[in-house]
Amino acid sequence: MNENTGTAEAAPQTHEFQAEVARLLHLMVHSVYSNKDIFLRELISNAADACERLRQRALTDPQLTEGDEGFRIRLETDKAAGTLTVSDNGTGMSREELIGNLGTIARSGTRAFLENLGEAKDGQSLIGQFGVGFYSAFMVASEVDVVSRAAGSDEAWVWRSDGQGSFTVEPADLETAPARGTRVILHLAEDARSYAEAYEIERIVREYSAHVPVPIMLATEAPAEEEEADATNSEDKPEKPEADAAPKIVEREIADGSALWARSKSDVSEDEYKEFYNHVSRQFDDPAVTLHYRAEGRHEYSVLLFVPSMTPFDLFDPDRKGRVKLYVRRVFIADDVDLLPAYMRFVRGVVDSQDLPLNLSREMLQSNPVLEAIRKGVTNRVLSELQKLADNDAEKYIRIWETFGPVIKEGLYEDFERRDKLLALTRFKTTRSGDSWRTLAEYVADLKENQTQIFYAIGDNEAAVKASPQLEGYRARDVEVLLLSDPVDAFWVQVALGYDGKPFRSITQGAADLDAIPMPEEADKKDTDEADTKADVAALVAYVKETLGDSVSDVRISSRLAESPVCLVAPEGGPDRQFEKLMSRRDGAPGDAGSKPVLEVNPRHALVKALADHLGDAAANSFTEDASWLLFDQARILDGERPADPAAFAGRLARVMEKGLA
Ligand code: ADP
Ligand code: MG
Repeated sequence: MNENTGTAEAAPQTHEFQAEVARLLHLMVHSVYSNKDIFLRELISNAADACERLRQRALTDPQLTEGDEGFRIRLETDKAAGTLTVSDNGTGMSREELIGNLGTIARSGTRAFLENLGEAKDGQSLIGQFGVGFYSAFMVASEVDVVSRAAGSDEAWVWRSDGQGSFTVEPADLETAPARGTRVILHLAEDARSYAEAYEIERIVREYSAHVPVPIMLATEAPAEEEEADATNSEDKPEKPEADAAPKIVEREIADGSALWARSKSDVSEDEYKEFYNHVSRQFDDPAVTLHYRAEGRHEYSVLLFVPSMTPFDLFDPDRKGRVKLYVRRVFIADDVDLLPAYMRFVRGVVDSQDLPLNLSREMLQSNPVLEAIRKGVTNRVLSELQKLADNDAEKYIRIWETFGPVIKEGLYEDFERRDKLLALTRFKTTRSGDSWRTLAEYVADLKENQTQIFYAIGDNEAAVKASPQLEGYRARDVEVLLLSDPVDAFWVQVALGYDGKPFRSITQGAADLDAIPMPEEADKKDTDEADTKADVAALVAYVKETLGDSVSDVRISSRLAESPVCLVAPEGGPDRQFEKLMSRRDGAPGDAGSKPVLEVNPRHALVKALADHLGDAAANSFTEDASWLLFDQARILDGERPADPAAFAGRLARVMEKGLA
């Protein structure tokens, strides 16, 4: 930052761009991104934001807009000069704001863009997806001048840069500076001169910005032959002889700034919805769901909401603002009011109230009964819309579920009132789902004889959950198990009471409730000698229990195992082991389950039987002791934990292997 401290007021001060900006600018200047048109969308969106912010501030401070209450964005092309100017009469920027806003990266979207750039093979294609903001002007301009006057200020400043690492700021000529707001002058690069053509600008506005909620004017030089016709229209210039004066500028409206959401649904096309979605969400995919309606009755409000089809980059960013914008009678009020619960934070759009006062204070926004009613109504409506989609277009709904399911599931523990509705919307991977998904209704319809619970397995990822030894007995009985691997799963299953009267039950919790569920016929024959096998194994179980002592809360014969010799489960009434581990996870390190597990032994496993057979045998004693500990450690490892004592584990393993070779 080399800031001159000259005394001359007019001396431009040079500032260096923040390193990240310089990197971004380099990319813009050398951009080979094919769709450069988007720069205009960015500048117009900034201009519209500035107008809406000032309109909102003027509600409590009308002086700010005194004498000029209408808001507009003005685009002016000048072919001879090779410039395109984007002006607005919005908030404007002070000197400090110019330096801060146009010299650093404050925007989370732009930051995410840069972060993604690191990994992306093709950084250029990311520009279109993220919308990189103001700096995209340097895709088309070799120099950008920003002349700005903050509303209510008697100063105006010029920010100027060629995008090569630094920018200057100096006082603007107050005569020509805007009375309020910002003028961005693009000195178009050689290969971008087409942006000085009015028809090009009009085309781009129609495509990307036709529905920003501020009118857009296009000013161009009047074609020579039309000069006379136009002269009759201009009432404010009565002086006739203007022979060789400055070329005449004609201005016309190319977008009316009317609120799209206030129109009736039948008057809005898909394309218009998409364009508005792109503007309001700053996402450039297609909306997966568009919800547009007007609530009437006790409270009147219009709603235009979208469910994106792509995961927003900041879905899990806790500071993310501006999910749904609040308007009051078409005046923007705030974009950080929670109009929807956090588990619907992927929804984007606008809610416009007829009933709220315009001068809502921050405090009133937090606790306002009208707003509360709107929040409730809109939340229910989004849910019923999703349910409708799930019923009528399952495939489309599944795509939404695959994108936002982990977020929606947060509602299962946050939104007690709507839990049943949310459970109906929830889709599961199960031991039976294969590549598709299952609903709880389907699960419950397929319960086995004597099955009274909905079983689930939890783990860090689907593959690990599927490999849990605890699942074996369920598989053997063909009992379906929900496979849960999203971080939120461990939480909601603790509080959800069940579905259709069937409680949720972890497969690692308590004594297996499996015994009541009969084995399929083929397996029946094996059960004939089960009785004496169990008798032998009982002695082994007692031995192992004594050996492991305090490390376990119990050792017992298992009905949930089929192929594995042992597994760990939670003691009766104890918390789910995976949940415990999640809760004890600190500083990123995986925690251990705090409570002592129960070690379950598979009486049908060959190793278990062999150990039981040698139990009385004095020569095998030390081997059996080592084996007991090794089985325990093996069960821990399968649960994603470490051996209880790694050094002892290694010693035992070496002894047992040595014996195996002898
Ligand atoms: P974003 O608009 O997402 O914040 P930009 O890079 O487009 O990111 O703009 C950066 C910031 O510069 C804006 O947040 C705003 O504070 C300021 N800014 C840009 N253009 C204008 C404008 N026309 N009027 C007022 N402020 C502006
Ligand atoms: Mg912007």
